[in-house]
Amino acid sequence: MRPFSFESVTTANDAIAAGASGDGGMEFLAGGTTLIDLMKLDVMRPTRVVDINALARTELGRIDVQRHGLRLGALVRMAEAAEHADINAIYPAVAQSLKLAASQQIRNMASLAGNVLQRTRCPYFRDVSYQQCNKREPGSGCAALDGVNRSHAVLGTSEQCIASYPGDFAQALIALGATVDIAGPRGTRDIPFAALHRKPGDAPDIETTLQSGEMITAFFIPAAPWTRRSVFLKIRDVRMALGGVATIPWRATAAEAVLKGKVLSARSKRAAADAAFADAHAHEHNAFKIELGKRTLIRALDQAAAMEI
Ligand code: SF4
Repeated sequence: MRPFSFESVTTANDAIAAGASGDGGMEFLAGGTTLIDLMKLDVMRPTRVVDINALARTELGRIDVQRHGLRLGALVRMAEAAEHADINAIYPAVAQSLKLAASQQIRNMASLAGNVLQRTRCPYFRDVSYQQCNKREPGSGCAALDGVNRSHAVLGTSEQCIASYPGDFAQALIALGATVDIAGPRGTRDIPFAALHRKPGDAPDIETTLQSGEMITAFFIPAAPWTRRSVFLKIRDVRMALGGVATIPWRATAAEAVLKGKVLSARSKRAAADAAFADAHAHEHNAFKIELGKRTLIRALDQAAAMEI
C-alpha cells in the first residue's frame, strides 16, 4: 500500500485550484474504474487523489440536447448517455459505442471523460513484474515489441510503444467531429477531439495534450444531417473511425478521401480499406489486424449502405 492524500471537492473552481497546486502526483477521481484498478496493480502511484464526483450535480453531470448539437458533461455516466432517448434517436453511433463497451456495472460507474482517458490494456503495462514498458517507466524499453503483441496496434505506432487505444466512445466522437471543453489553472479552452490524444512517438507516457492540472468539463458534438444515420460511418458524407488497431482514436481520413464523391462499389470499398491501412506497421503476432481491419471496414460500409434513411 502506497500512501496518498485524499480529498473531495464540490465546485469546479476547487477542482481547478487543486489542479493548480502544481503537485505532479495529483489525479482526479471520477468513476475510478481505471484509476483504482491501476493503483491496485501498482501501475499508477498518485500522491494525491482529488474526488470530483460531487461535480456531477453541476453542469459537468448534464446531458444537453441542443438544436446546434449535443453537449455531454464530463461526469455523465456511460450508462446514462447510452440509454438517453434523444441520443439513441439523433446520435445512435454515440449510444452504440457506449452500449458495446464494458459491463453494465462499469457503465454505471464510469464517467465519459474517464472513458476517453482510459489507459491501454497492454499486458506489459498492467503488470509491473515486466521491467520494460516505456509508458509506465520512460526509457525502460518496450516488452511488447518482441513479446506477445497480438492485441497491439498497427497504426500510429512508434519504436517506443505499440499499445492499442482501448476505448470505443472515442471513435464515435472523432468521427462526428466532436470538440472538448477543458478547464484548468490558466482558464478554459476548447479543442477538436482529434487533438486530445497524442501518438506515442518518443514519449508514450504522455498520452494527451492536457496540461498539468487541466480537466475535461464537456464534449460537444455538432448537429449534422449524418448523425442520425450513423453506425460508425456513413455513405454520402463518409466519416470513418477505427478502434482496436491504433495507438490513439483513429479517424480514417485517407479512406474517407478515397470514397468521397465515388459510387460505392466493391472496387471503391476495397480501395478505401487499402488506404485506411496503407501506413500500417505490423509486428510478429498482429499482422492479421490489417486484413481483418480492411474486411471490417468493408462490412461496415455495406451495413451503412443498407440502412434506411
Ligand atoms: Fe509499454 Fe507501450 Fe510497450 Fe505496452 S506497447 S509494453 S504500453 S511501451
